[in-house]
Amino acid sequence: MKINSNYFNLKESYLFANIAKKTTEFSKSHPDADIIKLGIGDVTLPLCSAVINAMQNAVLEMSQKDTFKGYGPYQGYDFLRDSIKKYYNDRKIEIDADEIFVSDGSKSDVANILDIFSKENTVLIPDPVYPVYVDTNVMDGRKIQYINANKDNGFLPLPDENIKADIIYLCSPNNPTGAVYNHEQLKKWVDYAIENKAVILFDAAYEAFIEDKSLPRSIFEIKGAKKCAIELCSFSKTAGFTGVRCGYTVVPMDLEFDGASINKLWFRRQSTKFNGVSYIVQKGASAVFSKEGITQITENINYYKDNAKLIAKAVKDKGIYFTGGENSPYIWMKCQDKMTSWDFFDYLLEKTHIVGTPGSGFGKNGEGFFRVTAFGDRDNTLKAVERLKRL
Ligand code: PLP
Repeated sequence: MKINSNYFNLKESYLFANIAKKTTEFSKSHPDADIIKLGIGDVTLPLCSAVINAMQNAVLEMSQKDTFKGYGPYQGYDFLRDSIKKYYNDRKIEIDADEIFVSDGSKSDVANILDIFSKENTVLIPDPVYPVYVDTNVMDGRKIQYINANKDNGFLPLPDENIKADIIYLCSPNNPTGAVYNHEQLKKWVDYAIENKAVILFDAAYEAFIEDKSLPRSIFEIKGAKKCAIELCSFSKTAGFTGVRCGYTVVPMDLEFDGASINKLWFRRQSTKFNGVSYIVQKGASAVFSKEGITQITENINYYKDNAKLIAKAVKDKGIYFTGGENSPYIWMKCQDKMTSWDFFDYLLEKTHIVGTPGSGFGKNGEGFFRVTAFGDRDNTLKAVERLKRL
């Protein structure tokens, strides 16, 4: 019996474990310190009442013989896929319910979608980025080409003649940098993918944070994208589902490689390895798109966006280079005085009792940068801003 030796090639991820360790040590040696955690990208506001009511009703339905539900459809219930379809159609993006696959979150889909692609493919991954893209490809033994995201390109790299990739990861608004591609930039990627017969995996987990109407919230706003892209979305940050678990992936009917329909392959994969998301959760997710749900989640998203603006303003007033803060819950700032990301982590913890995330944990180009999130509560964010101002 041999194990998948690609797992030996994974780099140990110390990022969040190290943050937790350093924070615990600091609070032990400074028992009176009021530590503010703006590190991990998890939400803090509870689920909105539209979602809670829908899930409570669904629980009751499960208690009655005539409304009880067993296994659901592999792709998700029609009521949820129709709501998602409408969510796109209202923005004039033509997506059909058959193109939508409901899942237990976009992390699973980002990883699982690789099942349908050959391990011979080369993948293109921006650096820095959400670490799951790298690790899942290392597990499969795929060749990885990195593309540099840095201050010179505003952390929004574009294709050039040096890129020879079959699978391209794009994340916009980006985790960790908060940078957002505009239409023109995404068009360059779509054109590149079509010309080179590559597929784009577009991670739109933070699309709901885009408020600038001129910026694309979906890759399918770009002409031609249905011929080359898959979009991965999540209810986690949009509606506080990080603990509830629900997401969806859009695989266009037009997407074909080697004469095969990617939509059909993905259906085949999902119906073989996945038995769907619980009825109760899908009812809750569907309520996100109700009139009441939209009002309530917009309020929550605005709360985080206002936090982001407060932090961004404090950083800007200090004259520090940063990306994000607008159209994104992340603020990605340059460490000062040539400090490394971890030096800056220690400095900020020591001087302000604020915990953030060292940028070097997201790739080599993250060195010398630092991520602060807007998912904290308002009082803590205001306190953190005051402390940053005094620093
Ligand atoms: N994609 C990005 C860019 C993320 O930052 C995250 C979570 O932090 C995810 C996907 C995963 O989301 P989910 O909770 O739906 O698995």
